[in-house]
Amino acid sequence: MVDFIKEDIIFSLLERANNTDKGEIRNIIDKARDCKGLELSEVAKLLFVEDKELLEELYAAAKFVKNKVYGKRVVLFAPLYTSNECTNNCLYCGFRRDNKELHRRTLGLSEIVEEAKAMEAQGHKRILLICGEDPRKTNAKHMTDAMEAIYKNTGIKRINVEAAPMKIEEYKELKNAGIGTYVIFQETYNREVYKKMHPTGLKADYDWRITAIDRAFEAGIDDVGVGALLGLYDYRFEVLGLLMHVKSFEERYGVGPHTISVPRLRPALGWGLDKIPHFVDDDDFRKIVAIYRLAVPYTGMILSTRERAEFRDELLSLGISQISAGSKTSPGGYKEEEEKADQFEVSDHRSLPQMLETICENGYIPSFCTACYRRCRTGEAFMEYAKGGEIHEFCQPNAILTFKENLVDYGTESLRLKGEAMIKKALLDIHDDKMRSLTEEKLKDIEKGERDIYF
Ligand code: SAM
Ligand code: SF4
Repeated sequence: MVDFIKEDIIFSLLERANNTDKGEIRNIIDKARDCKGLELSEVAKLLFVEDKELLEELYAAAKFVKNKVYGKRVVLFAPLYTSNECTNNCLYCGFRRDNKELHRRTLGLSEIVEEAKAMEAQGHKRILLICGEDPRKTNAKHMTDAMEAIYKNTGIKRINVEAAPMKIEEYKELKNAGIGTYVIFQETYNREVYKKMHPTGLKADYDWRITAIDRAFEAGIDDVGVGALLGLYDYRFEVLGLLMHVKSFEERYGVGPHTISVPRLRPALGWGLDKIPHFVDDDDFRKIVAIYRLAVPYTGMILSTRERAEFRDELLSLGISQISAGSKTSPGGYKEEEEKADQFEVSDHRSLPQMLETICENGYIPSFCTACYRRCRTGEAFMEYAKGGEIHEFCQPNAILTFKENLVDYGTESLRLKGEAMIKKALLDIHDDKMRSLTEEKLKDIEKGERDIYF
């Protein structure tokens, strides 16, 4: 049995953390402002904060850290579901094997390319390939063929993959096909709950899932993404479990995750909100996002369209650095939506251009940048740049340049107006004069028709 997650330690940390006095909480919040992260025992104490004043201080610190590490940039992407066929039976998922009402479909290569083209036509450059687990249909070959076809036939620049655990050789195939980040959620870090929620199929094996990140690292994939599905069990346990997992592979491989996602359970076909065992409300959710931000300041944080529009806008300031937009959760959903084929219900239905307008209105600069991956600034190399603060030097100009491309190629009149104003503001956030004037020159090149310009 794999022992990365020591449940007894998590329970005892939680037991000792309750009723921490205000002075100690304030010291932890102050420490977090140094952007050096937090210990598990400190995180446990923050997880119990309910006092309004302290919560405001916690949020202010999260905003400070977010701003210092990420500035005003927000990276955009969307999921591409290649199949909803699945041999597992995760109780909460619309794709579960026993859901006989779902219309099943695995896209062929040309259909996958059509989907990617439809996403590109909205302005996307970065996609997340997702599928159910069916070894006969959605195996590594299905994924690598899809990736190769998309890279070859579309302008999509980065393909991340969210899929079931694989063998090292299979991860190597994904690496060779040009995977960006490999994403896998443990769902719940509690073994007993895990067993209940994943009764049959390959996914029933907790250990095979929690060691997936290790095999991905061994295969040379050094950008990985993790997450706990919020609502399955006590959120305090899950946050500590996830951070314990992160620390365990940081110790073994010298690099933490590229991203943490914060998926919260949604209704799905045959699974209503009333079935959620440990409902996480908005106040808890806000706190979780802020605490992750303080605990691992250099790890990107992803928010999906599972959350409502106005709530997503609010969470940007607390620590979210990547959001999906215009998402569909059924195979083929971008070309034509089919009823009863979705994984779960999305809450934010704004299109990518609508989302971009809102991001600008709220004072953020959208980014379609994929440069780090293409310039090999991944894994440990990325973290070194990030921790040294140098990543700002690349990210801000790259956000401006890639957003400019989007405005010129896809922007509506009203988006262009707001976008150009935002670009002007964002240029002022490049503090190095030489870099700023280089960026301004490149902006002119983009207007003249040059593409794919980045630092
Ligand atoms: N099938 C693969 C797996 O389970 O690892 C790939 C990912 S699955 C299609 C995407 C993720 O959606 C799951 O890992 C789970 O966390 C999440 N999910 C499933 N059902 C959900 C629901 N009802 N609400 C919100 N998220 C859900
Ligand atoms: Fe299948 Fe993944 Fe859904 Fe579980 S979460 S039923 S493995 S698609």
